[in-house]
Amino acid sequence: MRAHAVKLGLIAIALVALLLGYIAGSTTAVAGDANAVAQEVMDVYYPGTETLGPDEFRVTACGTGQPSVRPKQAAACWLVELGNGDKFIFDIGAQSMSRISAMKIPMDYLDKVFIGHLHVDHMGDLPILWTGGQKMNRTVPLRVWGPSGTTPEMGTRAAIEGLKQFMLWDDVSLAGRLDVRATEWVVNEFDYKGVNEVIYQENGVTIRSIPAIHAIDGAVSFILEWNGFKFAYSSDTFPNQWWMEHAVGADLAVHECFAPPEVLIEKQNYEPNFALWLSTLGHTSPAQFGKIMAMTEPRMAVGYHFYNDFDTQPIVLEQVRSTYNGPVTLATDYMVFNVTRDDVRVRMAAVDHEIWPLPATREKVVDQSLVQTYGEFTKSGEVMMREVLEQIWGEVNQKYGTNAQLPPQG
Ligand SMILES: [Zn+2]
Ligand SMILES: [Zn+2]
Repeated sequence: MRAHAVKLGLIAIALVALLLGYIAGSTTAVAGDANAVAQEVMDVYYPGTETLGPDEFRVTACGTGQPSVRPKQAAACWLVELGNGDKFIFDIGAQSMSRISAMKIPMDYLDKVFIGHLHVDHMGDLPILWTGGQKMNRTVPLRVWGPSGTTPEMGTRAAIEGLKQFMLWDDVSLAGRLDVRATEWVVNEFDYKGVNEVIYQENGVTIRSIPAIHAIDGAVSFILEWNGFKFAYSSDTFPNQWWMEHAVGADLAVHECFAPPEVLIEKQNYEPNFALWLSTLGHTSPAQFGKIMAMTEPRMAVGYHFYNDFDTQPIVLEQVRSTYNGPVTLATDYMVFNVTRDDVRVRMAAVDHEIWPLPATREKVVDQSLVQTYGEFTKSGEVMMREVLEQIWGEVNQKYGTNAQLPPQG
């Protein structure tokens, strides 16, 4: 089906190329063969159409903005896909699930989430992944890695316990109808003080945490290593010695690059004292970001965590360039990085707004004994319209060869 869609896409592109070649040919000579033009590597990334090479990984910006989300930018979220098939989500801020869904990845593969700190702009869509994945028939538990806090209640485990309470109505109301495994959480809380400590090691992939400095104690950054590649993700942090030492030489270094004070003052009406503190001490401002990259020399530096527009990007870039001359990209949502041994390719994803989140690829296991029923009060208000239901159930049974039985009257 997918190969078929790709083929159709290529044919469409070939036809357009032929047409353009024909138009161009009326005034100038057509260079080369139109089919060759159609087979050129795409300028944009069409989700679900490219297989990663064995020595390649892809990172997609699924949230690059600030806590107050806007249509163009969700809150912090980065999707990492490796050439071995493994997929990881680093932070999952509000609205980022819509971006993740656009990447056309079956839900069974979206089961590993690493949270850098517990600000809600870095974990706000965790309940949406949990419940949305269930609705799309995820057949595996959701695994979450996150730091401890200064007290047990400030750590990731306690945050997920609170989230479970928040989601209890959702959980109880659908028990017995969803895959029993998909409703489970597996929480891996690790010491926020760990310096380059291994927190994940499976299938040739190692993920380490380093402490970050942000807001209060208990924030971390991550370093993923696989197949000789290194991906570093800051989440939120003030410049620190741990990043300098352990993120050095990353193939892709995604680090926060917060809006500079003057942007916060002029566009968000922040008071100057607060804007200065937030941009340069609570976070990492563009000039500080540039200095970090100059000191750690990644193959590609990626800055995020500001509203990236035509009027803000020149200001941010100028400040980055005041301290750094190396390769840099200022990220926005749906930006895609393909990293190979000799190239870091940056493109935008061509997003299909009609896409549905993809269902899981494995068979669902349900336990109907867990199903909750209505009490007498709610049941007393039912208007059954039995003849309508019998018609629907009959048609569906006939179409799909099933024998589902409508519950008895009353
Ligand atoms: Zn934060
Ligand atoms: Zn943040």
